[in-house]
Amino acid sequence: MQYPALIMDKAKIKHNTKVLSELANNHGIKVAGVTKVLSALPDLAEAMLEGGAYALADSRIENLIKLKAFNVPKLLLRIPMLTQAADVVQYADISLNSEIEVIKALNEAAKAKNKVHQIILMVDLGDLREGVWYEKTLVYTDEIIKLDNIRLLGLGTNLTCYGGVIPSTENLSTLVAIAEEIEGKYGIKLEVISGGNSSSVHLLLKNQMPKRVNQIRLGEAIVLGTESAYGERIEGTYNDAFSFVAEIVELKEKPSMPIGEIGMDAFGGKPVFQDNGIIKRAIVAAGRQDVKHDGLIPRDKGINILGASSDHMILDVTNAEKEYKVGDTIEFNVNYGALLASATSEYVNKLVK
Ligand SMILES: *Cc1c(COP(=O)(O)O)cnc(C)c1O
Repeated sequence: MQYPALIMDKAKIKHNTKVLSELANNHGIKVAGVTKVLSALPDLAEAMLEGGAYALADSRIENLIKLKAFNVPKLLLRIPMLTQAADVVQYADISLNSEIEVIKALNEAAKAKNKVHQIILMVDLGDLREGVWYEKTLVYTDEIIKLDNIRLLGLGTNLTCYGGVIPSTENLSTLVAIAEEIEGKYGIKLEVISGGNSSSVHLLLKNQMPKRVNQIRLGEAIVLGTESAYGERIEGTYNDAFSFVAEIVELKEKPSMPIGEIGMDAFGGKPVFQDNGIIKRAIVAAGRQDVKHDGLIPRDKGINILGASSDHMILDVTNAEKEYKVGDTIEFNVNYGALLASATSEYVNKLVK
């Protein structure tokens, strides 16, 4: 076994997806499983599909290419780069868009491949990340509707990603109203109204999702069992589908306060220390090049994370529930940031059980 390791429990991911897709399906909503946090690990995609996701979604074309073998619709989540238009049309069935130049380039690329590319036009309802400003949506659709190799599949929005705006019945009803205005103006039917990410789960739980929203794009809720509007646990899901595991390389009793003048730490911060006298300190062989240490939660409740440099993480194990020795491993739950960092680090051994 090689450490540090990130271990995914596939059955738990499948279970979480099932709980969420049943909840969504009960509201007439389909779940697109978002794989980006694990760089589109195929086992994650498979667990999501087995759990009831109807499509796979990722922010990067490189990741969608990894998912080529799965015969389900694939969505490109990040607004495409103009320079990637040909690949987008090749590897994504649907892309989320907000720029008319890019949509025109997709149209040209699709024409060259004799394809029709489907787009979801992203509408900014106030979170100030991607999307056309909601009041100007029809300025865009007037152009889109003229393109022969683009099909306007529907509208979408993304909230609680930059501005922290929480999805509500009101803001999502605005999205539905704009969709209906478009349908009336051009005499078309919009097939998809994509109502956001894991921060929209609370609306499903409270039965407050506007009718006509029929797609939700879920990453965090599936992998961590938390909704992201209020950070609450989703009942009936696992929050420990992932374990970060690191090996103890030094274990000694030392003071809790450094000796000497305190300068900057390796990352330019000024460290602060609390004097707890002599403590039992463990160093595990994992650092900031492997994980975001402040997003780890030790499973042994008696352990405190004191800090980390590039390759070392220092733990206070004085009150640990277990008696550790050098060579033992310590397990952690992860938050989203820690999961993203450890899944992306080439030094972390990714395992599926
Ligand atoms: C990452 C992302 C998602 C999924 O977000 P979660 O909070 O992980 O559910 C959905 N939509 C877009 C556009 C994204 O970039």
